[in-house]
Amino acid sequence: MPPDESTATEPGSSPHGKESSQHRTFGNSRVSHEQFRFVYAAEHVYVAGLLLHGLFFVVFLWLNIRELYLFNILSLAAFSLAFYLNRNSRHNLALWLVYLEVILHASLASWLLGWNSGFYYYLLAIGPMLFINPGRSLLEKLLLSAVPVMLLIFLYSQSLRGFPLYYLNLDIIHLLHIGNLIATVAVTAYLAHYYAKGVNESQQQLQKLTEAYQQLATYDSLTRLLNRHAMTQAIEDEVSRFRRDDKPFVLALGDIDDFKQINDRFGHHVGDVLLKKLASRMQQRLRRHDVISRWGGEEFLILLSDVRLSEAESVLNELREYLAEPVRASSLDQGVTITFGAAQYSDERGIDQTIQAADRAMYRGKTAGKNRVVLDRSESE
Ligand code: GH3
Ligand code: MG
Ligand code: MG
Repeated sequence: MPPDESTATEPGSSPHGKESSQHRTFGNSRVSHEQFRFVYAAEHVYVAGLLLHGLFFVVFLWLNIRELYLFNILSLAAFSLAFYLNRNSRHNLALWLVYLEVILHASLASWLLGWNSGFYYYLLAIGPMLFINPGRSLLEKLLLSAVPVMLLIFLYSQSLRGFPLYYLNLDIIHLLHIGNLIATVAVTAYLAHYYAKGVNESQQQLQKLTEAYQQLATYDSLTRLLNRHAMTQAIEDEVSRFRRDDKPFVLALGDIDDFKQINDRFGHHVGDVLLKKLASRMQQRLRRHDVISRWGGEEFLILLSDVRLSEAESVLNELREYLAEPVRASSLDQGVTITFGAAQYSDERGIDQTIQAADRAMYRGKTAGKNRVVLDRSESE
């Protein structure tokens, strides 16, 4: 299993913006969500391996088995290095190291202490570790996990013929056997637990990102009103209701009067604050089932549902008067006025032409002196 750096991401190797949805930070590297599950679970196993080999070192020192306590110093170094490499984009190299360590340790301990010491169990934990690594093909995983299985068979057949080099007390052999069995099961369960946790974490992060993108795709970032795209969708939904229930509705386009002057006199920032305040005022004033959007720079498109043109006129006039009350925004403390143009929807002219009719009515209002509501009466009610 040679280190495959094509699957590893070097820190800072790609632009942040693009990475945010597909990658996440792990240690000093950025990894894909698929890699995250693996490196996150692997890290926990490397820590468990360190603790286990620390324990083996003490046990073998106590039993005075020189080859094994010395080998366990190497094992501790291998697991420490694997932990470091795993956190620094070299996930496959880390796995390589641990793969070799487990094979060598299990073989050496089985050879020295005999099959009954149960050190062969650890060979069974290699397969799951290999299979959760996304950086390898299925064939490679099968071939690599066949090695410990063949070794297991070899160790077993040897155990039938030869004898261990060290003869330990039978109670100690039993204790080692049970300990190794429990440790193998525990490490495998630990791996599965953290892999599942990694999957969960990635899913939660992706869910948050999806929600954030949905917000961006639906709402205007300045005013928090629906954007043009979402408003078009809302109008289409209203058209369906109109066809089903025969409920009339009106589209009204409002454009702030002399907004350029406000920007010129008070600055663009004050203009922005004003837009936000007007947007929230409109939301407060309109009914819950009316829909309001930021259609353009300082233009708002409003969908007044379940009303005809004459009713819409009084709703819009009330709104216009309410909006004209002074707004406090930094140095600005004055009212701004809005001119509305409104048109009733009909299937004959469709959505685009209804909006165009509202737009034309709004422009008539501008030329007639602004701060008013002008209705498009071309369609009979
Ligand atoms: P009118 O009464 O004819 O509508 O005059 P007006 O000055 O409002 O003219 P118009 O509607 O053509 O100009 C809109 C101005 O709104 C121009 C642009 O600088 C400003 N504007 C558009 N979007 C924003 C924005 O997001 N923030 C700020 N501060 N200003 C904006
Ligand atoms: Mg305008
Ligand atoms: Mg304007």
